Amino acid sequence: AGEIQAQDVDTLKVHMPLCMEHLHNELRREKHIRHFGRMQYGLFLKGIGLSLEQALIFWQIAFEKLKPDEFNKQYAYNVRHSYGMEGKRTDYTPYSCRYIIQNNAPGPGDHHGCPFRHFSAPNLRATMASHQVDDFDTEDILSLVQNRHYQIACTRYYEVTRAKMLDISTENLKGGAMNGGQGNAGMVASLESIEHPNQFFEQSYLLLK
Ligand code: SF4
Repeated sequence: AGEIQAQDVDTLKVHMPLCMEHLHNELRREKHIRHFGRMQYGLFLKGIGLSLEQALIFWQIAFEKLKPDEFNKQYAYNVRHSYGMEGKRTDYTPYSCRYIIQNNAPGPGDHHGCPFRHFSAPNLRATMASHQVDDFDTEDILSLVQNRHYQIACTRYYEVTRAKMLDISTENLKGGAMNGGQGNAGMVASLESIEHPNQFFEQSYLLLK
């Protein structure tokens, strides 16, 4: 999506998968998230085009309870490190779904992980309701989760929510969107299965822009 600015991130939340949206919301609410959350979300933001300079601005503003020198001492190194500017100079890449689902399961007070894998069923149900996913689709998504098809559940969530967004926000739907009574779902359904949070973001960004 090209380079983005620290202040654009809140607006771009609409294109984020649930894992990243959750981290973003908790970061705004608590003015802090823990190490694995910062890694998961920070590398995702790097992947959508946040430069090192903008990342430092983003995290410093986000951790608003810290004084600038506290931020510099405690966190700036790690941000630079994840951009390959410190230590071994490894240029880290954003985590894939498989990695997020299989590694570092979140404990109490953690917000990283994959909501489809790590949220309880009631929490996931409430999350679906707050994203206007109807009962029918919610049951579908929960049964995919129950069968451990987390990424397919995420793909389904993508289809349902993007179709809805197109429906209410676009007056001149492009060709193909109105096929055979399926509404917009037909257009969005051609999507490949979600393998990566950055793939979710990029597809949504291109679809809705
Ligand atoms: Fe994020 Fe991947 Fe889980 Fe979707 S399946 S919520 S993109 S980790």
